[in-house]
Amino acid sequence: MTSAKTTKIVIVGAGFIGACLAYHLSRRPRNAITVLDRGIPGAGASGHSFAWVNAFGKDPQDYHTLNRRSLDMWYRLAHQLDEDIGIHYGGEMRWEGNTKRAAQLERRIRQLQTWGYPCRLISRDEMLALEPDLLPGRVEAASHSEADIHVETDKFISVNLKRAQESGAIVHPATGVTDFVIRNGKIAAVKTPDAEFMCDVVVLASGVQTTELASVIGVHIPQQCSPGIVIKTTSCATVLQSVAVIHAPPTNENYQHLHLRQLSDGTLRIGQGTQEGINRNDSQEHADALLAQAKAYLPTIADAEAIPTPVGYRPMPLDGFPILGFTEAVPNLYIALMHSGVTLAPLVGEMATLEIVDGARVDWFAPYRLERFG
Ligand SMILES: Cc1cc2nc3c(=O)[nH]c(=O)nc-3n(C[C@H](O)[C@H](O)[C@H](O)COP(=O)(O)OP(=O)(O)OC[C@H]3O[C@@H](n4cnc5c(N)ncnc54)[C@H](O)[C@@H]3O)c2cc1C
Repeated sequence: MTSAKTTKIVIVGAGFIGACLAYHLSRRPRNAITVLDRGIPGAGASGHSFAWVNAFGKDPQDYHTLNRRSLDMWYRLAHQLDEDIGIHYGGEMRWEGNTKRAAQLERRIRQLQTWGYPCRLISRDEMLALEPDLLPGRVEAASHSEADIHVETDKFISVNLKRAQESGAIVHPATGVTDFVIRNGKIAAVKTPDAEFMCDVVVLASGVQTTELASVIGVHIPQQCSPGIVIKTTSCATVLQSVAVIHAPPTNENYQHLHLRQLSDGTLRIGQGTQEGINRNDSQEHADALLAQAKAYLPTIADAEAIPTPVGYRPMPLDGFPILGFTEAVPNLYIALMHSGVTLAPLVGEMATLEIVDGARVDWFAPYRLERFG
């Protein structure tokens, strides 16, 4: 697509992925970008996310490397955007209090080091030097993954959309796509209840709704249901002095690991289990119990109160890996559906732009085409 003609690109979805794509695409000349969101930008999975940017638990190695590349690209993207995108540096710290899980953590860190991940085992003293207010209890093993960050999703999305708009993109919130006009096997226009948007390329960055939307034109996007809960708290004083994210062991056998981060307004986000853990319990009791566990480790948050948040649904392709690229069935339909979209956004934004604008087929995306599902 190197001709002087303007390419009309419609992005359906203004979450973390759609917003980042809009920013990258709008940096190129001769693109007319329209972003449509059926609600408020960022209110989908992105608004429920724990938003830990990492390649820690990402297997196999290809997928780890994809996440690692994106993690490294975060630093450049932050520099390019040069505005408050709610990025918190300092890495991720975790520890284990029982010998079995400590051995697992040690093995994991050794493996990640062979993959070149900047992480290392640390002593209890090093932990406390990083986080002096922490009461970690028994520490059988601990680690620090120095490059990890967390991001405030609403800030990131609004800065990306703002930059895209400054470059001419048009953003329509509260504009749900319901149908498509097909001409000669391609999408000629995107339909909403009130309007039609002519297009040369359509990008579905519509999160969990991608499957339903693509089915309208007979494209099957296999997805699994992946509910999760990240609770919020009232604002408290700075709790983490150095690191961005902590993962703490369960305080008793009935609980799971917890993860915690703090936003710049002082509120906390706390989740449990793994980044992919299934949880539908959005009750006040659950939120209180999770916060009580966090207080056992961080007495400085004694006054914080838990605010339950509704269940968030992760965009989760059937095999857990991203779906990226133009579809064979409808050649001007580009799919950008993934879990770990917060981690992957800089890479997806930049590489998908090479595919959409320059017609490249990026090798890094080869394992993640829709057609792998047959
Ligand atoms: C509990 C939880 C914890 C997570 N933790 C992490 C983490 O620690 N690290 C990490 O990297 N990732 C994490 N994720 C995953 C990450 O948040 C998502 O991968 C990412 O937010 C996906 O962004 P998205 O833009 O693709 O989707 P979304 O944010 O869901 O955005 C899709 C947008 O499309 C719009 N839309 C849908 N249908 C239509 C339509 N018909 N017309 C117009 N607009 C439409 C929606 O309104 C929505 O705004 C987590 C997710 C959850 C739920």
